[in-house]
Amino acid sequence: MKIHEYQAKELFKDYEIKIPEGFICKNKDEILKIYKTLDDEVVLKVQVHAGGRGKVGGVKLVKSEQEVIEFADRFLGKGFQTVQTANEEFIVNKILVEKVSQINSESYIALLVDGGNQSVNIIVSPEGGMDIEEVAFQSPESILTLPINIITGPTDFQIRKINSFLRYEQIYYVQLRKIIRNLYKLYLNKDCSLIEINPLIQNNSGEILALDAKITFDEDALFRQNSVQKLRDLSQENLVEIETAKLGIKYIQLQGTVGCIVNGAGLAMATMDVIHGSGLKPANFLDIGGGADEHKVSEAMSAVLSDHNVEVVLINLFGGILRCDVAARGFLSALDKYNKKAPELIIRMLGTNSDEGKEILSASKYNISFADNLNEISKILLTKR
Ligand code: GDP
Ligand code: MN
Repeated sequence: MKIHEYQAKELFKDYEIKIPEGFICKNKDEILKIYKTLDDEVVLKVQVHAGGRGKVGGVKLVKSEQEVIEFADRFLGKGFQTVQTANEEFIVNKILVEKVSQINSESYIALLVDGGNQSVNIIVSPEGGMDIEEVAFQSPESILTLPINIITGPTDFQIRKINSFLRYEQIYYVQLRKIIRNLYKLYLNKDCSLIEINPLIQNNSGEILALDAKITFDEDALFRQNSVQKLRDLSQENLVEIETAKLGIKYIQLQGTVGCIVNGAGLAMATMDVIHGSGLKPANFLDIGGGADEHKVSEAMSAVLSDHNVEVVLINLFGGILRCDVAARGFLSALDKYNKKAPELIIRMLGTNSDEGKEILSASKYNISFADNLNEISKILLTKR
């Protein structure tokens, strides 16, 4: 689960990580009122669940009431896109007004789970700012990744190493240690899956501040994080993802053209690999989950059909408790309700009642290719490129 920058900064404040002085505003009047109480120059930042705002004007230093009004009119209540939002638009409901910081250096710091290493990693770079993705690509040597030992937490030795890697003078070590230790505490206490500060800056009073803040939380731990649940902003989330989640279907929106309906997360990932291997891109990740009935299967199909980018729907199903004939009826009921031309279907069905399932589908009016294994799926997909 994602939260807004201003919410992440509130959490930073609770954990004594310094941030610029700022106020969150819902409308133009509030922004103007705050502007008048602050300096002549302030930073305005649109609040959406995505980064990359600076590149498209969503973060701006403004010097006059006129500029404040222009910014508010341009963004408030409107859809906003960055490179990170892909095809989706996010509505801007709030703007963060902050005191301007003088920047002496912009670094990058993040905490992230490394499943392979069974640890939380700390990732830093002295080349922070708006082009960190480019840095990772062009000069990976300017990124340092250190695994945090689960028993000791970040060690003083590691923090010294980070201090020098970020090209900070010795004198910053004590401040940096406090930031890193507190970030790690926050990460564990709140069941985060990512904390990212880009940029972490040194200002000209010798302070280290989090100028930006991004936190995502582990959804599977939300049940025990009441304070975090309250930070949820559904206006920034994908409606289909929310609705399917209520039925216990795991649906994640992606940007490709091949819609996927699969039961089992492992099978779903293998299926997505096959799609990539065939030179196409999945439109979604979808795991129907256990104990699906006809209704649930039908809702899963409707979710995939609601995505306008979908040109082909790939079904890869193992019938177990979920019988293939039941699934087949579920698919057809969603397709029959769909009021546009149905996309082509590629179907692989194995297990309980798979023959009945295939018969039901073959007898329908839809354009269906059947496959018996992943190789055959791949061959059919190759013809769709
Ligand atoms: P993002 O583009 O969505 O990641 O938004 P950020 O919060 O990182 O802001 C983008 C960029 O705006 C930063 O990398 C800074 O260079 C610049 N910026 C933001 N706040 C300030 C500020 O107070 N002073 C100055 N000089 N630049 C700022
Ligand atoms: Mn940023």
